[in-house]
Amino acid sequence: LEISLEDAFAGTTAKVQVASSIVCEVCDGSGAEQGSKPITCPTCSGAGKVRAQQGFFTIERPCPSCGGAGRVIEKPCKACGGAGRTRKEKTLSVTIPAGVEEGTRIRLTGEGEAGVRGAPAGDLYIFLAIAAHRIFQRDGANTFYRVPIPMTTAALGGQIEVPSIDGSRVKITIPPGTQAGHQFRLRGKGMSVLRSSQRGDMYVEATVETPVNLTARQQELLREFDTAGEADQTHPQSSGFFQRVKEFFAGSTTE
Ligand SMILES: [Zn+2]
Ligand SMILES: [Zn+2]
Repeated sequence: LEISLEDAFAGTTAKVQVASSIVCEVCDGSGAEQGSKPITCPTCSGAGKVRAQQGFFTIERPCPSCGGAGRVIEKPCKACGGAGRTRKEKTLSVTIPAGVEEGTRIRLTGEGEAGVRGAPAGDLYIFLAIAAHRIFQRDGANTFYRVPIPMTTAALGGQIEVPSIDGSRVKITIPPGTQAGHQFRLRGKGMSVLRSSQRGDMYVEATVETPVNLTARQQELLREFDTAGEADQTHPQSSGFFQRVKEFFAGSTTE
């Protein structure tokens, strides 16, 4: 049974159709036609076993007429052919608690296959699968996704609004100078936890989007920006890297 991540978060009631053996309604599981009852097996007189003489030995084996049951059905039920059960599609309502995970097993007591000739039915197990979400990835109780932020917001700081799995909006304050790969942790905004009121955390990773399709004016402004400051102040990482590159080449020539 596949459910959405939202349903795994909030819990839900799902309908499942299962083809299952159920007790035959015509004979009520006895396997005998209406009005008739199973009779004592005439072959073994109800013992369920027959003896056969083989040379000096007497061999006992299950009665071939009744299969060892000791009783035979004289007139088998036409609906089930004497088996006492039939196959039928049934719709079950499955309560899925909040916080279930991929592979969680849900047991429906007594909804499994009916027993032969009126024996109690077994349990039905339903395994859950959770569909991939378009935004959220899940890791246990936590959720994760990447959010692209404009270069200017990353540089100047600002606020962005992001979704949480519960359907609400969450504001994230982007501090000035936020780098790509920075993760914001939002406590208690992740998945619900099975049989608990706790919630996991939500991790939002910033990716910085380089602006594209610049107008002439925007290009002009960025060139002006580029020459207006000190590169080792505004871009310490690349300045530092190219300083190391310079040292690398200088070192390799003196060797
Ligand atoms: Zn029947
Ligand atoms: Zn028999």
